[in-house]
Amino acid sequence: MADAKLIDGKAIAEALRREVANGVAAFVHRVGRRPGLAVVLVGEDPASQVYVKSKARQTVEAGMESIEHRLAASTPQSALMQLVAELNADDTVDGILVQLPLPPGLDAEAVIEAIDPAKDVDGFHPINVGRLVIGMPGLVPCTPLGCVRLAKSVSASLRGMEAVVIGRSNIVGKPVAQLLLAEDCTVTVAHSRTRDLGSVVRRADLVVAAVGRPEMVRGDWIKPGAIVIDVGINRVETEGGGKGRLAGDVAFDEVRRVAGAITPVPGGVGPMTIACLLRNALDAARRRAGIA
Ligand code: NAP
Repeated sequence: MADAKLIDGKAIAEALRREVANGVAAFVHRVGRRPGLAVVLVGEDPASQVYVKSKARQTVEAGMESIEHRLAASTPQSALMQLVAELNADDTVDGILVQLPLPPGLDAEAVIEAIDPAKDVDGFHPINVGRLVIGMPGLVPCTPLGCVRLAKSVSASLRGMEAVVIGRSNIVGKPVAQLLLAEDCTVTVAHSRTRDLGSVVRRADLVVAAVGRPEMVRGDWIKPGAIVIDVGINRVETEGGGKGRLAGDVAFDEVRRVAGAITPVPGGVGPMTIACLLRNALDAARRRAGIA
């Protein structure tokens, strides 16, 4: 069997960013202001700093206003809640994202619940989670949106597919399962207590791996021809030290020989996350301005 088709997340994300930029231009023309996306970073986590910087750059490139708030790790909960309240009340802010994880001592759940659901571009507010489950329009978490877009780049309809999602986090596993259910897949959600994971995954026409364990999904777990979406970003050590290399949750070299299509790491799901965030910010701005 030929090797799997590589799903080019970089190119698909770029096309989505272009689509968003066109939507932003139309919004500005109609509403007379740019959509505004506020990002709040608390503390100095290096990975979060890199991520926030790249969000800000891509926000501006899409033609939106980027509003950045950097707070010290020692910021008290009350000051963070106050900032969220101010951003909620600010009419020029359409989207609010508080970068997670928060430093120890801060309550992320309370912060998420304080964000106006109409501006919750991460889609983590319980109201948006509920809307997703019952199929009402709302804001949906970005990485899961990216996963489904990538799968649909291979097969425009996912209807009737057996989908196995490995991982049940609130950020990836659960929302991606809901989105796949909405796409008429038959969805199984596997997790650390799942028995005989290999044979569960072997049923799948579509596998989404969101575990955080490097190369856990093996070639002999995959049904020939399946679509494999690898969400994992794991840094693994390499001989000779250094920064190591990035590995997904899927044993890429084995799985590509069996799957029909597969996302690489890096260059698969990763680039889609910020592109979907920009899409959410534009959607939030449109809804707030009364444009469907
Ligand atoms: P998480 O909150 O740690 O959740 C991991 C999930 O995997 C849990 O549900 C856990 O099960 C399950 N799991 C752990 N060990 C398992 C095993 N041996 N067999 C089966 N399931 C197992 O992680 P996450 O936030 O969802 O992230 C998952 C991965 O995606 C990470 O590598 C992360 O870096 C990456 N990620 C990438 C992006 C992106 O933009 N590309 C975004 C978010 C996350 P239990 O619930 O039973 O503990």
